[in-house]
Amino acid sequence: MPKIKFLGGVREVGRSSILIESKTGAKCILDHGIRFKGKERLPQEPDTTNLKAIALTHCHVDHSGALPYLYKNATPPFFTNPVSLKISEVLIKDSLRISNFSYPFGHQELQKLIQNSYFLKNGKRQKIDDNFYLTFINAGHIPGSVSILVEVDNKRILYSGDINTQQTNLNKSANSSDIPEIDGLIVESTYALREHPPREELEEKFVDRVINTIENGGRVLVPAFGVARSQEVLMILNKYNYKGKIFMAGLAKEVSKIYLDHPESIKNIRMLKKALKKTQFVSTKSVRTNVKKYNGVIIAPSGMLKGGVAMAFIKSFLNDPLSAIYLVGYQVEGSPGKMLLDKGIFKYNENSRKKHAHNAIEIYAKCERDYFDFSSHADSVHLREYIENLNFYDNSKNIFCVHGDPKSTTSLSSTFSSKGYNSVAPEIGEVYTI
Ligand SMILES: [Zn+2]
Ligand SMILES: [Zn+2]
Repeated sequence: MPKIKFLGGVREVGRSSILIESKTGAKCILDHGIRFKGKERLPQEPDTTNLKAIALTHCHVDHSGALPYLYKNATPPFFTNPVSLKISEVLIKDSLRISNFSYPFGHQELQKLIQNSYFLKNGKRQKIDDNFYLTFINAGHIPGSVSILVEVDNKRILYSGDINTQQTNLNKSANSSDIPEIDGLIVESTYALREHPPREELEEKFVDRVINTIENGGRVLVPAFGVARSQEVLMILNKYNYKGKIFMAGLAKEVSKIYLDHPESIKNIRMLKKALKKTQFVSTKSVRTNVKKYNGVIIAPSGMLKGGVAMAFIKSFLNDPLSAIYLVGYQVEGSPGKMLLDKGIFKYNENSRKKHAHNAIEIYAKCERDYFDFSSHADSVHLREYIENLNFYDNSKNIFCVHGDPKSTTSLSSTFSSKGYNSVAPEIGEVYTI
């Protein structure tokens, strides 16, 4: 009977990692991410004897950030796809560069990870040991994101990774009908307690507000995560015929170029190309010297205003009553973005970051600000629907709720316990047999 050990990303979002072990002791690790808070930034130390493979659901650093650590003293095969590998490399380098935490690995281990990578196409069953297989299945979360089906000792375990069952402009949605009958499910719980607003309406409302602000002589700053969210916002503006200028800067620019090099990962590459053609890429240096020149919509990381090239624009926006700052991603409690939305104050101290130091600032916002929930995760309704539509073998309705705060993971788990599933919100280090 296979064992599942939860090394991280349980009752929290961050440092996701799961170890699956066959009855003969062969192992594989799914994801190995980092988190940004606390003393423990990495997943629990895994036992890597007889480690046959490492596989990645997607490039976000809460899933990929600690992968190089596994290459300190070993060279196991690493299964991923081209777009996830390329963007993981960019994000891991970035986290090594900006973090004030000293990670127990560096560029050398990252190179070893890259050298040991193998690309796996969705739907292709990859053998990693006797009676031990991995298959990638589209997860709909961001370009390149997959769920991983593990077949081991004649049992099937599905690890959802981060999933979205709703279509976005960038991604095809995850679909429970792509999944064969399973014995166990490890599922994310990020939005198990929240519902997203209807997508189309929200998109229209967002573009209306942008157009209004611009027509009234203002500018719009959209601080967005550079991976996927920036490009999604760009496609939304294009879809609803926003005709003004669009500027893109920082990581968003770099990732857009990677997407163009990997058209297979994008739902509608023609639409993205068209939108990018109308976009002016701007360098951080040019922004610093000539902020006011950029008159229109500016899409610039970071999404929670914790740093990034958005910092170069922020003062000129905060002080302008005609302009607007529209946040488009989840804002963690205590982040500068959250405080700006709730209290209208922008408070920021760059001392926590090593480079590009700015002074501590605190500004009362004169500009308009709002939040548009363009999430890339399934919400409470769609998550439950997805799980209910999966087929479990009789008497093996095992569900493990991970990747969410303690309330979300335990609530999702108790919902399914009450429906007759064998459901649990595991804690770190716990081992289960299936
Ligand atoms: Zn993610
Ligand atoms: Zn995640």
